[in-house]
Amino acid sequence: MTTRQSASPAAPATATRTGLPALRDEARRRDERDPLTAYASRYATGGAVHLNGNSLGPPRESLTSALGGVVSGQWAPRQVRAWFQDGWLDLPRTVGDKLAPLLGAGPGQVVVAGETTSTTLFNALVAACRLRADRPVLLVEAGAFPTDLYIADSVARLLDRRLVVEPRAGFDAYLATHGRQTAAALTAPVDFRTGERRAIGPTTALCHTAGAVSVWDLSHAAGVLPVELDACAVDLAVGCGYKYLGGGPGAPAFLYVRSDLQPDVDFPLAGWHGHARPFAMAPEFEPAEGVDRGRTGTPPLLSLAALDHALDPLVDTGIRELHRRGRDLGEFFLTCLGEGRPDLPRRLASPRDPDLRGGHLALRVPDAEGLEQALAGAGVLVDARPPDLVRFAFAPLYVTHEQVWRAVRELHRALP
Ligand SMILES: *Cc1c(COP(=O)(O)O)cnc(C)c1O
Repeated sequence: MTTRQSASPAAPATATRTGLPALRDEARRRDERDPLTAYASRYATGGAVHLNGNSLGPPRESLTSALGGVVSGQWAPRQVRAWFQDGWLDLPRTVGDKLAPLLGAGPGQVVVAGETTSTTLFNALVAACRLRADRPVLLVEAGAFPTDLYIADSVARLLDRRLVVEPRAGFDAYLATHGRQTAAALTAPVDFRTGERRAIGPTTALCHTAGAVSVWDLSHAAGVLPVELDACAVDLAVGCGYKYLGGGPGAPAFLYVRSDLQPDVDFPLAGWHGHARPFAMAPEFEPAEGVDRGRTGTPPLLSLAALDHALDPLVDTGIRELHRRGRDLGEFFLTCLGEGRPDLPRRLASPRDPDLRGGHLALRVPDAEGLEQALAGAGVLVDARPPDLVRFAFAPLYVTHEQVWRAVRELHRALP
């Protein structure tokens, strides 16, 4: 897809460009200065600008051969023996330990069991409530992702607890005043609609002062925002493998359990892969030592292999640099957005201060789905969230400043 602007025949070749066209040169300069730009050409984007990274981003070009290698180099020659001979059985832990540094977690605390985020959250929330059997309340934030609300409600009914749904502003206050009745508190470091950030440390500290168990859903933070799980002494956390982690369609979720909590955690999904000796085929469940007790059944090996492959460039880059790049792209988006269009920055539904938001920005528009479709027609993929939000996610490694510029140009055209 070509995006070149044709110069007006009347304009002398040396004329200084102004307005949005001038910012294209600035975009190129910024890309040239930033060593992380080199990663972008190694993703198979199909010529589109992928700002819907919260949902699904492009694969790395090398994914085809990596997965082909698993099939023809492991599965075909060794068949069932590959589970033992190619490290397949350990992959939930191998991938977990690979991901851990991006979450500020030491080894042995993250596992990718092969479940969805929803299932993993169910497992974590029930386990959290079981740690506080005598406390009546399960607390969740009202703006949480829908599945989190549904699962929390179901867990509360299952365990005969009272679900308390607090708006963002009342969440910490509830913990401060009613924390002693609270078994577990579920929230997220990034609001999935507005991108607003919640600091993990203070809310976790409030939980601990009150003796409640903190559970974090990191789906919109993992891979783009430092979360410092160990430093904040988070109890349990879960998150998607297919958002900024780029694991691909239906990539499995991850689970974090702080090491000193692991001996006491009793997961409801007591599957045989979470057993201390899965192949002893014992009639009674005996949980594995450590985070392995968070495993369930036979993991989806090819999906795990795809996630494993997706993590390499993220881990090589490190979360500080990923965050820095994502922030630069978001700030450049805002610079372009207002260029010649002072009306558009007023549509911002996210905090203007980059310290107060995660990896995405949201704009309030009259017809969010219409805008999503118009942009898609111009090769810019974003996502609408009803009723009136359009989100722009800045995945650090496959989005460039020039693509951000192009997205804003199309946005200007689509919102006359
Ligand atoms: C995307 C997302 C999910 C998705 O759950 P799945 O079971 O993987 O479909 C859950 N929670 C949050 C906060 C999310 O952003």
